[in-house]
Amino acid sequence: MARGVSIFCPYCHRHTSLEPASVEVEAGFGERIHVAAVWEQSYDSKWWIGVCNYCNQPVLVQNDAVMVYPQPLPSPTDPNIPEEIRTDLDEAKRCFSVSSWRAAAVMARRAMQSAAIEKGATTKGRLVEQIAQLADAGKITVDLKEWADAVRWVGNDAAHPAGEAVSREDAEQVLNLAEQFLHVLYVAPAIAKNLRNKKGK
Ligand SMILES: [Zn+2]
Repeated sequence: MARGVSIFCPYCHRHTSLEPASVEVEAGFGERIHVAAVWEQSYDSKWWIGVCNYCNQPVLVQNDAVMVYPQPLPSPTDPNIPEEIRTDLDEAKRCFSVSSWRAAAVMARRAMQSAAIEKGATTKGRLVEQIAQLADAGKITVDLKEWADAVRWVGNDAAHPAGEAVSREDAEQVLNLAEQFLHVLYVAPAIAKNLRNKKGK
């Protein structure tokens, strides 16, 4: 158990830290004392009640927040990303938070494909080809394109019944890739524009 473990709070939807809850126990002779309650499930698994330091709501925590109940919500997607695409990415994150790897991957992939098309890639063709088009047009970096290529099954279709199984790692990689991709396409230009406006350029 560690003090000040950081989580994305499932109640107040902020990045906050947890403090161990103080539990009242009978100490004999009618005396009551307050201690942090820790249950040792096994030598490497301890459970404790954490309290959000912002909203004061309780969560059940394993070790240094390996597991947290209720599940912390995924981090919010940047509002500079167009709503339709952002909704897809948010859904991908929610799927991930309930261990639905394949559904998370499908939604993350869909967010990337919508963005690629919105940025001028042809509507037909596979996602890898659409990403290559954006790289050729200078809209994404070569590094990002190579990353997309490395996530090999992005080119396949996770939605196909005959497709390969999707692991947690696969889903996490595609989710990260999708978010980086959307940041390059929408968030970085919005920040640049905002700075230009501030400087009156
Ligand atoms: Zn909270």
